[in-house]
Amino acid sequence: MTRAKQTLAVLGATGSVGVNTLDVVARHPERFDVFALTAMRRADVLEQQCLRWKPRYAVLGDAAAASALQQRLRAQSVATEVLSGPRALAEIAAHPDVTTVMAAIVGAAGLEACVGAARAGKRLLLANKEALVVGGRLFMDAVRDGGATLLPIDSEHSAIFQCLPEDRSAWPARIDHIVLTASGGPFRTRTPDSLHDVTPDEAVAHPNWIMGRKISVDSATMMNKALEVIEARWLFDLQPEQVRVVIHPQSVIHSMVVCRDHSVLAQLGTPDMRVPIAFGLAFPERIESGASQLDFATMQGLSFEPADRARFPGLYLAWDALKAPEGSTTVLNAANEVAVAAFLEGAIRFTDIHRINEQTISALLPTAADGATIADLLALDARARAAARETARRLTC
Ligand code: NAD
Ligand code: MG
Repeated sequence: MTRAKQTLAVLGATGSVGVNTLDVVARHPERFDVFALTAMRRADVLEQQCLRWKPRYAVLGDAAAASALQQRLRAQSVATEVLSGPRALAEIAAHPDVTTVMAAIVGAAGLEACVGAARAGKRLLLANKEALVVGGRLFMDAVRDGGATLLPIDSEHSAIFQCLPEDRSAWPARIDHIVLTASGGPFRTRTPDSLHDVTPDEAVAHPNWIMGRKISVDSATMMNKALEVIEARWLFDLQPEQVRVVIHPQSVIHSMVVCRDHSVLAQLGTPDMRVPIAFGLAFPERIESGASQLDFATMQGLSFEPADRARFPGLYLAWDALKAPEGSTTVLNAANEVAVAAFLEGAIRFTDIHRINEQTISALLPTAADGATIADLLALDARARAAARETARRLTC
């Protein structure tokens, strides 16, 4: 029997996950047609990708840049139609000819396209964790109502998914709790009060993974793990206490499921995003990913440390937000996006990121109405951003 080709839209194609996705796709041309590629800026990188993949559509953030790219592609006899703006992004994600959406945009900006893809019943490969943290229940309802297949790409969540049976109805009876592993980032051995003068370049230098700048800063503050705790709560329908975190500096074990009988299932591999990407692309099959194999003969040992609150205060905001009124995770994500951007611009100190996040979630308590529609969530997101910007301004005075 011949397998039907998947028609793929890569949202955030020029980023770290987007580029890794196209690397895996290039290894399996018989499985995938690239239908659309999108990016915010970096029109030069998107242009090279269009020359290589000749997608039907490309989307850029800005209209002027999109029309300039359209002209350059025409001059090179590439028929790709170049669109621009968030509306085009959402239309591409729900396009009837698309079977598979790789959601690799960074931040809440990916929310509408993700929910649109879910409602349209796509095979949705989710790297864009912030979209699920912001969307929460509304996002998961869209997956259920649209009949979408949601496949986690975040390495920890892919690991958990790989340790669970395909039949989701068996999960509650199977899972006692899950353990997300965290490398501890570049400042694992430093105390929080020694991090006052950390520069953006120091913060983005992750010991094990090469990633975009925002997620690299999140890894240094442990907010990445906090977002992953919230992501796991929704993906696997768990109570906040059922999601635990352990520091594992080698990033070999990508996460673990502790079953009801206390048997522990783990997924291991080299720290290479092409493994979870290939898994999501081919699920339920396994295909070559390009990643190197683990070498157990030369491995120097695996170690574990507790993720204690005094050392990693940012991590614990996940459980604070999950136990606060629903919508607090939307507020936390918005505050963090503002704080990370301000830090990368040199406007605030590294240690201010946590202050802004903590103060914003304690000051802004959402009500049930705040999560009813995407527009409500985006309005809450906007209020949280305004509050976080105000706190950032006060900190810099
Ligand atoms: P990145 O910064 O390298 O790339 C982000 C992509 O999104 C780019 O193509 C950019 O043009 C696009 N983009 C940014 N802002 C946008 C906007 N407002 N509208 C439309 N497009 C926009 O980021 P990344 O490291 O590839 O991460 C992407 C997502 O995957 C993030 O949510 C991150 O947390 C998650 N993730 C990344 C990794 C990794 O190894 N990089 C691992 C796990 C999860
Ligand atoms: Mg991760």
